[in-house]
Amino acid sequence: MATVTDAAQMLRVLFSRLAEPRLGAPSLYSYNDPRGMCAECEGIGQVAAMDMAAVIDESKSLNRGALLPKDFAVDSWWWEIYKNSGLFDMDKPIVKFSEEERENLFHLDDARKIKVGKIGLTYEGVVAKLKKGLGSKDPESLQPHVRLEYEKIFTRQTCPACHGAGLNAAALASKVMGHNIAELSAMQVSDWPSWCAAWMRRRSGPCCRRWRCGWKIWSPSGWAI
Ligand SMILES: [Zn+2]
Repeated sequence: MATVTDAAQMLRVLFSRLAEPRLGAPSLYSYNDPRGMCAECEGIGQVAAMDMAAVIDESKSLNRGALLPKDFAVDSWWWEIYKNSGLFDMDKPIVKFSEEERENLFHLDDARKIKVGKIGLTYEGVVAKLKKGLGSKDPESLQPHVRLEYEKIFTRQTCPACHGAGLNAAALASKVMGHNIAELSAMQVSDWPSWCAAWMRRRSGPCCRRWRCGWKIWSPSGWAI
């Protein structure tokens, strides 16, 4: 009986031989290969979404601690950067910020330098900074106290680009008998042979010798892998 790993590899070989439009090598159907993976989630199938209620208290001003993550606390480096940027009224509650002020506070990321003491530091809006910093980390790899902070701010959501498959658009558009590889991978392994058998009835030839699996895999040069 094929293990799941074998089965996944077999599917990739099957797709590399038969799918339309044809992509080429089996690895192009793998979320572990940069050429097959979804760029949005880097093949993980999930992306980090930010809970803004854990990032900002809109009723407060920057001087009163509107920014909630530890790295942005009053008197922290990041708080000093926002203060010295000259972009904000530090006593105005965030809820009264204009669209432009909100954009600057959350998303501005134009590499401008802000002087804090004698040091020039690069400005990054709160959301931009969190996304590139904590949000880009694998939560599993974080120290417990950092992970706690991560879990306050981020939730994992199914990647909107690949709907959880981890594969890029080209890999998902490449199909065998109307199915892409993600749809077949999501099936029970025990369901595959019946689907395969339906396909086999229209073809003939020896079983692939490599896995002795009973699957007949066709290539333009004949039946073989
Ligand atoms: Zn994705």
